[in-house]
Amino acid sequence: MTAATEMVWLGEDRFDAHRVDLPELRPGEVLVRVLVAGICGSDRHTVLGHRDAPCPSVLGHESVGEVVAVGPCAPDAPVPTDVCGGGLQIGDRVVWSVTVACGHCDRCRAGITAKCRHLRKVGHERVDSGWPLSGGYASHMLLPVGTAITRVPDGLGNRAASLASCAGGTAVAAIEAATRMLGRADLSGLDVLVVGAGGLGTIATAAAVAIGGAVAVSDLSAERLGTACRFGARVHDSESDADERFDVALEFSGTPSGVRSALAGLRLGGVMVLVGAVSPIGEVAFNPEHVVRDHLTITGVHNYEPRHLVRAVELLARDPLWEELVETPLPLTQLHDALLEPAADPRVLRRTVAADAQS
Ligand SMILES: [Zn+2]
Ligand SMILES: [Zn+2]
Repeated sequence: MTAATEMVWLGEDRFDAHRVDLPELRPGEVLVRVLVAGICGSDRHTVLGHRDAPCPSVLGHESVGEVVAVGPCAPDAPVPTDVCGGGLQIGDRVVWSVTVACGHCDRCRAGITAKCRHLRKVGHERVDSGWPLSGGYASHMLLPVGTAITRVPDGLGNRAASLASCAGGTAVAAIEAATRMLGRADLSGLDVLVVGAGGLGTIATAAAVAIGGAVAVSDLSAERLGTACRFGARVHDSESDADERFDVALEFSGTPSGVRSALAGLRLGGVMVLVGAVSPIGEVAFNPEHVVRDHLTITGVHNYEPRHLVRAVELLARDPLWEELVETPLPLTQLHDALLEPAADPRVLRRTVAADAQS
């Protein structure tokens, strides 16, 4: 095969299927065939005009793929590796980070590659940016030097694995932020509130339960609450359970009411991690006296580090239920429907597309 297909986003809900030649790889680059590409909520926000995004571009940043080529060896050039070590081989099934970092700037050197000063992002680059095949809604993707890539274990299916690269890595980073703010290695003995049980909230639920947290989840959808309970959470009703207090509140809904209820739910010394507000939601008033008197900490998480991607893959591999919660891929040419129409099954956390899916 010498050509790839990609769905170029032209603004609003318009897409065009383009054939593009497969690029010649440079040292350190990896070409993958996209096996499954998930529809993240932020792509939906982009298409609905809720946030600015480069256009025209190829969206899609939550994918799993198979390595089909690696760049040539060259003296002093980076060798494409799994972030756990070891060179990547043709045929390896892999996931990769949303962010592509320079590795040299002050932020990268400080370990904050998620906020690299020269950051590029999968599924967020204009088609004329000089990075061909930069989005997941395509048959192939080019992974530049600086992309964290990790292998997918045999027991983890493609649909479940696709969750790792946006929702999974970010949810794990949110849990790590909470433990770091608390000065702890785990959440054992602590009460955790998860606001919003979409992909991120459900993975964060499983991640918090795995390290000992007693998790309560709030969401408007009874089906999603049911899924969270299958991962060990209990239901929190923000009205009837308003007196309950928590050590950690993780906000994934990205709504002002979600932020308010997360903050109101904290007890003395509590930590709130804001994650869901990735498009403008307006300002949310809060009572500083509550933060002062109760020694509260408020932090935010956006993007994640390579270690979070690795941990997300490990977490998703622990439970076969994840594969059920991601819908069977639609053909790439039905991307418009996958993005804009809800799944028939309300338990589905993600709709997906794939170039070789059967219609
Ligand atoms: Zn995303
Ligand atoms: Zn950098």
